[in-house]
Amino acid sequence: MQVLKFGGSSVANAENIERVVNIIRQRSEGEKTIAVVSALGGITDILLNCGTMAAEGNEAYKEQLQVIEARHMETVKALIPVTLQSRILSYIKTQCNELEDIFNGIFLLKELSSATKDRIASYGELLSSHILVSRLLSLNADAEWKDARELIMTDSNHTAATVDSTFTNNQVYQYFSKNNHKITIIPGFIAVDSNKRTTTLGRGGSDYTAAIIAAAVNADKVEIWTDVSGMMTADPRLVPTAKAIARISYQEAMELSHFGAKVIYPPTIQPVMKKEIPVWIKNTFKPEDEGTLIESVSPHNGKNIRGISSVNEIVLLSLEGSGMIGIPGFSKRLFEALSHEKINVILITQGSSEHSICVGIEQQNANLAKQSIDKTFSPEIENGKVEPLVIESGLSVIALVGDNMKNHPGISGKMFGALGRNGVNVRAIAQGSSERNISAVILRNDVKKAVNVLHEEFFETTYKHLHLFIVGIGNVGSKLLAQLHQQQAYLQEHLRLQIKVIGIANSRNMYFDDDGINLLTWKDKIQQSEPMYIERFVENIQSKNLPNSVFADVTANEQVAHSYDSLLQRSVSVVACNKIACSSPYQYYKKLKNLSKEYNAQFLFETNVGAGLPVISSLNDLVRSGDQVNRIEAVLSGTLNFVFNHYDGSKSFAEVVKQAQTEGYTEPDPRLDLSGTDVMRKIMILARESGEKLEMEDITNHSFMPPACMQGTVADFYKEMANHEEHFLSLYKEAAEAGTKLKFVATYDNGKASVGLQQIPPQHDLYHLYGKDNVVLFYTNRYSEQPLVVKGAGAGAEVTASGVFADIIRAAR
Ligand code: ADP
Ligand code: ASP
Ligand code: MG
Repeated sequence: MQVLKFGGSSVANAENIERVVNIIRQRSEGEKTIAVVSALGGITDILLNCGTMAAEGNEAYKEQLQVIEARHMETVKALIPVTLQSRILSYIKTQCNELEDIFNGIFLLKELSSATKDRIASYGELLSSHILVSRLLSLNADAEWKDARELIMTDSNHTAATVDSTFTNNQVYQYFSKNNHKITIIPGFIAVDSNKRTTTLGRGGSDYTAAIIAAAVNADKVEIWTDVSGMMTADPRLVPTAKAIARISYQEAMELSHFGAKVIYPPTIQPVMKKEIPVWIKNTFKPEDEGTLIESVSPHNGKNIRGISSVNEIVLLSLEGSGMIGIPGFSKRLFEALSHEKINVILITQGSSEHSICVGIEQQNANLAKQSIDKTFSPEIENGKVEPLVIESGLSVIALVGDNMKNHPGISGKMFGALGRNGVNVRAIAQGSSERNISAVILRNDVKKAVNVLHEEFFETTYKHLHLFIVGIGNVGSKLLAQLHQQQAYLQEHLRLQIKVIGIANSRNMYFDDDGINLLTWKDKIQQSEPMYIERFVENIQSKNLPNSVFADVTANEQVAHSYDSLLQRSVSVVACNKIACSSPYQYYKKLKNLSKEYNAQFLFETNVGAGLPVISSLNDLVRSGDQVNRIEAVLSGTLNFVFNHYDGSKSFAEVVKQAQTEGYTEPDPRLDLSGTDVMRKIMILARESGEKLEMEDITNHSFMPPACMQGTVADFYKEMANHEEHFLSLYKEAAEAGTKLKFVATYDNGKASVGLQQIPPQHDLYHLYGKDNVVLFYTNRYSEQPLVVKGAGAGAEVTASGVFADIIRAAR
C-alpha cells in the first residue's frame, strides 16, 4: 500500500488534475493506492477570505463565492465527458449553496468562530477530491471516495487540531483492511472532533493527512506531489540557484520545515518517522525528476549542511530581571504561560548569566504572549525583580540545518562571518544541543540577502555573485563596463565570480535591473530611465539589500563622494576612482577607513594615484608587513608630464595644455592639474596611507603658474596662459640649458610634503619618463638605499578603468 498526496497547485485546474490522474493510474498499477488531495490552489484562501468579508458585513463575498463555483464548474467541464458530468456538477452546486447559507449566517450575525472557519475551509478539499474521483471513475478506474472525517479524529482545537492517534490509527487501519478498491481518494486537511464537528489540521495540513494514513496502514511509502522537484537546499523563491536535495533524514527535513521550508508541513514527518516509512517529494509537473527521499539515515555526501530555511513574521520576547538569577522555575513559568495560550515557540536562547530569556514566536501571537507572561510574572514585575516583557518585532529566523554539523568545528564561524561581511545584524542565536541546526534571529528585511549569502557560502560550488552599482559612465565608466563585459567568461571560469551590474547612473539618469544590466545595450536603456539623484541611487542600493554589493564611483563629484559613509555603514563596499573623499579633510577620510573596518566592507581607491598602477596596493603591502615609509618622491600628474614632455616652444604652452585636455589626460577642469592641486591630493593620499595625518594646508605648493591664469573661467585660463607665454618659455629654456628636464615633483619626507616644478638631471630616477607615465619612489626601512619603484602609464581611460576593475575584484574577494 502507498499513499500519494497532491498539493493545491497539482490540482489547480483541469489540465493539472489530468496529470494527477495519470500519475495515480500509473502508480496504482501494481499497488493499492490512497491519494490525499488538497483544495484547488488558492481556494482555501478565498474561502476563508469570504468568511472574513461576510463577518465584516462586506457583501463582496458573494462575488468571490461565484468565482469559487465557476472555477470548479469549469474544471469539471474541461475534465469530464459531458454525459458523465451531471452528478458532479450538481454536487458542486449543492456544496456552493450550503456555503452561501453559511456565509449568509455569518453576514447576519457578524460572527466568525474558529469552528465556522474550519467548516468553511473544508469545502475546498471536499470539492477537489470529488472532482478527482469523478474523473477517475469516468475512466473506469477502480476508485472510491472516502471522507477523511470518518477516519481522522482530533480534539476541538479548531484551525489547528491535534489528532487522537490511537483512535485514528485504529479507524484507518480497520477501514483499509476491509477495503478492496485499487484507488481511494481522500480529502486532505480535514478531520472531525468527538462531537462530529469538522476540524482542520492547520494550513498546509494535507501533507499531515497523508502521513497519518500512511502510518496507520503501514504504507510502503508516501509520495508528496507538489510544484518543485524536491526539498531544496533553500526556498527557491528566495534563492534561484537552490538545488533539490537527493536524500535527507527525517530529522533534517523536520528541522527545515519547522524553520519555514513550506514544501512539507512540519508535523508530517512525525508519524512516518516512527514507522520508518520513506517519504518522497516529487514534482507533478516534472514526474521524471528524481525528487527528494526523506528517510531515517542522513546520507554522508561530504556536505555538513543539508539546507537553509527561514521563517518570517517573528517577534522576540525578552524577559529580563535581576530577580531571575539562580531562582529555579522562571523558565518553566514562562513556557507554561505560552503553552497555556497554545503559543508555539520557534526558538529559545538564554544567556549563561541567567539574567534574561529570549523566545522567538510568531508575530500573530505577540499580544497574547505579552498579556499572559506579564500576568504570570505580575508579582515579580511589581516588586521590580523582573522587567515587563519586551517585544521586538519585524524579525525573521534563518536556520542552517544538517545532521553532520556536529563534530565539524567552524560552521557557525563561517555562518556568522558571512552574515557579518554582508551587514546582516544578528539579534539572537540558538544552537540546539543536538547540533542539527544553528538559527539566528535577524531583521525581516535582511532575509533574502542572508539566505543567499549562506547558500553561496555553503552550497554554491558554482559561482560567487557580486552585485555592482556604478555611478559615472563617461569616458572611464563606459570603458569599465566594456571590460566587465569582455571579462565575464574569464571571471566565471577562473575566479568563479559572476559580476552583475545592477545599477548605473550618469549625472542625468539612473537605471536599475535586478537581473543584471545587459552590458551591450545599457546606453539605450539609460537614456530613457529615471532622473538621477545620488540620494535615491543610494536608497535603491540599500533597499535592494543584495549580498556582496559593491558601489563604484567613477565621477569627480563631491556629492557622490559624500555618500560613501552611508553605504559602508550598510556593508556595501566602495570602490572610488573619485579622489574627493580621500583628499577631503582627514576626519572624513579616517571615518571612511574606520567604517570599512567596522562594517566589514572594503573601501578601495587604487586609481586615486597613478590610475591603474599598483601604487596604493604596493604601499599597503609594505605597511601591512611592518615596513615604514620614510620618504616618497613621485611624478604623479599625467597632464603635467604630457605638457612638459611636449612643450619645447614650437607650439605655445596654452596649445599644448589644450592638446592634453583634448586627449583626455586632464581633470575636467585642467587648472586642477596645472595648479598642482591634483598632485597635492595624490601625495596627501599616499602620506595618509603611510600613516601620516596630513591635510591639504600642510602641503607646500611651489606653483609655476602665474596667479593671473588661475582666475575666472576655463576660457579665461587659456587666454591668460597665452599672455604669459614668455614665462613658460623661459622655464623651458633654463632647464634645457642646464641639460635637465622639467618635472612636476611631489615629495613626502618624514611628515612633510611639498609639490613643485624641478629641473631633473639625466642620472635621476625621475628623468626617464615618457608620455603620460607616472613614477613613485618609496624609500622605506627596507628600501632605504634603492627605492621601491612603481612606474608606468599613470593616466588614460583604459588603464584607469582597469584599476577600478581590479579594485572591484579585490572587494569581491
Ligand atoms: P503544495 O500546494 O503542493 O502543498 P506548497 O506551496 O505547500 O505546495 O509547498 C511547495 C512550495 O514550497 C514550493 O513551491 C516552494 O516555493 C516552497 N518552498 C519553500 N522552501 C522550500 C524548500 N526548501 N524546498 C522546496 N520548496 C520550498
Ligand atoms: N488547502 C489547505 C491549505 O491551503 C491544506 C493544504 O493545501 O495542505 O492550507
Ligand atoms: Mg503544502
